[in-house]
Amino acid sequence: MRAVRLHGVGDLRIEDLGALTPGPGQALIRVQACGVCPSEVRSYAGTRTASAYEHGLPRALGHEWAGVIEEIVPAEGVASGTALRPGQLVAVDWRGVCGRCTFCSRGRSDLCENLRAVAVGGFSDVGVAPLDQLCALPESVSGEAAAFVEPLACVVNGQERLNVELGSDLVVVGCGPMGLLHVQLGRARGARVIACDPIAPRSAAALALGAEAVVTAAGEEARAEVRRLTEGAGADAVVVAVGASAAVDDGIAMAGKTARVNVFAGTFPPRELALDPNRIHYPEIAITGTHDYTPQQFRLAARLIARGLVAVEGLISHRGGLEETVAGFERVRRHEGLKTMILPNS
Ligand SMILES: [Zn+2]
Ligand SMILES: [Zn+2]
Repeated sequence: MRAVRLHGVGDLRIEDLGALTPGPGQALIRVQACGVCPSEVRSYAGTRTASAYEHGLPRALGHEWAGVIEEIVPAEGVASGTALRPGQLVAVDWRGVCGRCTFCSRGRSDLCENLRAVAVGGFSDVGVAPLDQLCALPESVSGEAAAFVEPLACVVNGQERLNVELGSDLVVVGCGPMGLLHVQLGRARGARVIACDPIAPRSAAALALGAEAVVTAAGEEARAEVRRLTEGAGADAVVVAVGASAAVDDGIAMAGKTARVNVFAGTFPPRELALDPNRIHYPEIAITGTHDYTPQQFRLAARLIARGLVAVEGLISHRGGLEETVAGFERVRRHEGLKTMILPNS
């Protein structure tokens, strides 16, 4: 197994880690694609020092990945307990949830209190994962597209929490790869989508992917523009897909009466937000946060990709082998480009 591991702030290394062998009930997977995610870039950049190293160092990175099954080891006592076959493309759900804690038992395993990373692999040539963490995709889907199942599952969670309704106005603040998934899912749910991003290629991508209008201003000007575009009413739902308290402030100001606002991105380093409570109280606004997803949402995301309801081609700005990982992390750190897709076996 060749894998990219984080050894400390700014220190990513490609290393040979020896043979990787699947245990009972697991599959060996040849990794086709793994996306660079801002959450790991924060660990690399040292902006999330409090919790970034809780899993110890060195630490293998990459959690948005998909690959082709090379070998299956059946669980003991189960002759053929899986429909999965070697040669099949699978998206890998790294989140091992316990199924028993307070939140799992309420159907909210996105908040599992005993969460464990149960898959090994990502920015690596091969990986291993339990069979029940794998989601098969049809032959029409590319490995790159399958690697978007994980981030799309987070977006599904965000929009289910927001309850984006048919014929409603959804504002997406921040049109990086996650924001652009929100734009498409909002359209698929029947909303009129207004996308906000001052970075020209991002707002252009939002328009190409189905946004009704884009707002390239920020602050007061952007808020006024959203009011105008929603006939003075403000949005029914707002998702803030950029980690900046000024963007959250804008998002709340763009919300109309009874609207829901989802703080979808973490903000690092943390920044406080001064907020007049009357801005929530009188218009009866609900502010929510979401991160991660449930196993059910992961499978729904896989169906959305398999059926072409969400397109990911236009979301990839850079591709490369394992040696491209550092450059990809540096680009995300500088907020350049869209998704960098690492193709370890290309
Ligand atoms: Zn991610
Ligand atoms: Zn749990």
